[in-house]
Formats: sequence, C-alpha cells, structure tokens
Amino acid sequence: MYVTPPNGKVRVTAPLHMSDEKIRVFVASKISWIKMHQLKFAGQQSKPEMQYNSGEKIYIWGKEHELIIEYSNKNHPISVAHNTFILTVKSESTTKQREKLVNEWYRDELKKVIPSMLATWQSRMGVEAKEFRIKNMKTRWGTCNTIEKRIWLNLQLAKSPIECLEYVVVHELTHLLERLHSKNFIAYMDNFLPNWRKTKKELNSLTFNG
Ligand SMILES: [Zn+2]
Repeated sequence: MYVTPPNGKVRVTAPLHMSDEKIRVFVASKISWIKMHQLKFAGQQSKPEMQYNSGEKIYIWGKEHELIIEYSNKNHPISVAHNTFILTVKSESTTKQREKLVNEWYRDELKKVIPSMLATWQSRMGVEAKEFRIKNMKTRWGTCNTIEKRIWLNLQLAKSPIECLEYVVVHELTHLLERLHSKNFIAYMDNFLPNWRKTKKELNSLTFNG
C-alpha cells in the first residue's frame, strides 16, 4: 500500500485472488497510517515551489547553494563556486526553462558518479545491471526491472547526500539477487550497507521542491 504525493492518493496492490472485502478491511485497519502520510504530504505542499530566481536555495549532494541568476543572450554553462550556483539565462526565460537547464546539469552530475559507483558495487555484490537510466520521478527514488536488468535512478538524488544515491544503487542492485523486499532482501542490505536504515530515513525526510 502506498500513499502518493502530491494529493495523498492511496494505492493498494493485492494478489488477484484476494477479495475486495479483505482489501477493504486491510485498508481500514491502516487508516491512521494513511492519515499520517496524507498530513505529511499536505505539509509539503505548503512549501513554495522553486521559481528559479536569485536568492533561492539549491542543493547539490546535500549541500546548500545560493542560486544566482545572470542574464545574457549567449549560452553560458552553469557555474558552481563555493556556495553559489550561477545560472545564466535569457531575461525572458520561464521557470520551466530554468528548471530544465538545472535538471540537465543534475543529470550530468549523476552521470559523473554513477558508473564507478555501480562498478564498485556490482563487483562487490556479484551482480550486473545491463543498463542504468536517470529519470526525474515524482514518487520513487529508483526502480529495478529484474528481467531486463535495467535500473532507473531518480534525478532528484543529485540533491541529496551522495550516501543516499549509494543506498538506492545498492537497494536496486539487491533486487537482482532478490526480487521482493523479503527477509532475504533485508539480510543482503544489512550485509552490504549496515547503515542503510539511517540513510533511508534521511532520504525520506528530504522533500522535493524543485
Ligand atoms: Zn525495492
């Protein structure tokens, strides 16, 4: 069962043979849990959306930077120095266009670190993903298609501390050993990343506003 942002919609997955009545009883028994998560999302929604204006905060690998918008008619690459993140745009550029530039930059950041991180963990774990892709996802940090051996990683991970990306990479690679979030899966995680619970908590406490 999931409560999904932004509206706190509840999604339930159940075995085909399970009766609607049983599902209804299950959901009803979790009502306080559902309410708690819906409240959490309601709180997040009141956070202002990023507008990509000067003075806003922007995160790179968990570190806060101040966004500085500079205007030019020529293209300039994004420049990051100390605590500033300088984005050069045309004066008439929209929030969406600015967001796109920043997201492309995040994607490049991820591409710099993921291949070696994957290589390290694949050899340590004795598994191999055929492919990884980066996608800007709303509700998942990563996914693993165990048949295609393809891993998707959320673009937003470039905003959180690098340990969070590592946790998601190890989690998704573990699915190549164990498809379900079973006891076995947890045992693998405990073995590979003994600190994973703490990192998971940290990751889930981060809110997206970009
Ligand atoms: Zn999983």
